Amino acid sequence: MDIENLKASVIGTIDAHRHLLSELSLKIHSNPELGFQEVKAAAWLTQYLEENGFSIERGICELPTAFRGSYGQGKPAIAILAEYDALPKLGHACGHNLIAASAVGAGVASKPAIDQFGGSILVVGTPAEELYGGKAIMADRDAFNNVDTAMIVHPGTRDTATTQSLACLALEVEFFGKAAHAATRPEAGINALEAMLQSFAAINSLRQHIKDKARIHGIITNGGEAANVVPAYSAGTFLVRAEDDVYLNELKERVLNCFIGAATATGARLEYRWGDIRYAPMHNNLTLAQLFRQNMESLGRKMQLSDPNKGFGSTDMGNVSQLVPSIHPSVAIAPVEVVTHSPQFASAAASEAGIHGLLDAAKALTMTVIDLVANPETITRVKQEFEQEK
Ligand SMILES: [Zn+2]
Ligand SMILES: [Zn+2]
Repeated sequence: MDIENLKASVIGTIDAHRHLLSELSLKIHSNPELGFQEVKAAAWLTQYLEENGFSIERGICELPTAFRGSYGQGKPAIAILAEYDALPKLGHACGHNLIAASAVGAGVASKPAIDQFGGSILVVGTPAEELYGGKAIMADRDAFNNVDTAMIVHPGTRDTATTQSLACLALEVEFFGKAAHAATRPEAGINALEAMLQSFAAINSLRQHIKDKARIHGIITNGGEAANVVPAYSAGTFLVRAEDDVYLNELKERVLNCFIGAATATGARLEYRWGDIRYAPMHNNLTLAQLFRQNMESLGRKMQLSDPNKGFGSTDMGNVSQLVPSIHPSVAIAPVEVVTHSPQFASAAASEAGIHGLLDAAKALTMTVIDLVANPETITRVKQEFEQEK
């Protein structure tokens, strides 16, 4: 079959699996599981792949809910990534149930192209995107070493072929002061909460003078026990984000100085710990993004290459994108006024528009796989761009 006919047949294949894929995504949606606890989702997804001729490795990278499904052999090895973790209290408010179903749907629909042109298709189950950066851990444990390209489609409120995401690092902070009666003996106390509040004030001052896309934000997780006791202990969690790793390193030091200054001013003792997982910024492969965009547009969905109005978060797909040519497009499933990580977005992830997004994502992913395996020059171009930009 030629490429155009093969691409046209993808639409029929995915539509024939429409019922199964929407059921799968709704089942994950109504059984939300937090990061590294996605036992049911991983079981359902691997079952679907196995029933459709994929060989499955479960618990890869020493992560029980990670998996790899593979079909075909050798090069090129095209990875489609699945996320399936939910958010505390909000359930699937990031729509990872749709990512999961689109990934396995595209994997299975790619089989005829692999049969015809060779190579292999991998569906990689990547747990705990939201809380623990599962892909960063998997990248460190060599999960993507033999992969030629990696793709994942995230639901959102805009159809965009690229994603801007920031480097991100967490910081845990504790201040240790000295308890005393807040009215009768305040002079005997050292106020750990004041040290925390001064840190926030210092960060607010710093924020005026940092680069545009950098972000510093945090919460107080412990601010004392009783109003009449000088707080002897306070704790907080912060996230520091920047457009690139170099600026993140610079900011790290300046943010830390805010806490050190507050400790000096109040006399409280500071203890801190930077997070183990560092989210890398997303490196979009534009050759791959253009292919995906063309395929999405052939389905009647208008897709921008990038969207200047879109906000920036961080994703562990950034870590994958530093190792192999990658894309992380977004497919619109809700109007722009709906924000992700909200109850409204959780509803959208189980709506008709959500299922429509899932199916379109699966179709465009499969068509992009066809572009890659049918034409070795395409892979070469994708890789050349990656090497040049390194
Ligand atoms: Zn997400
Ligand atoms: Zn999210």
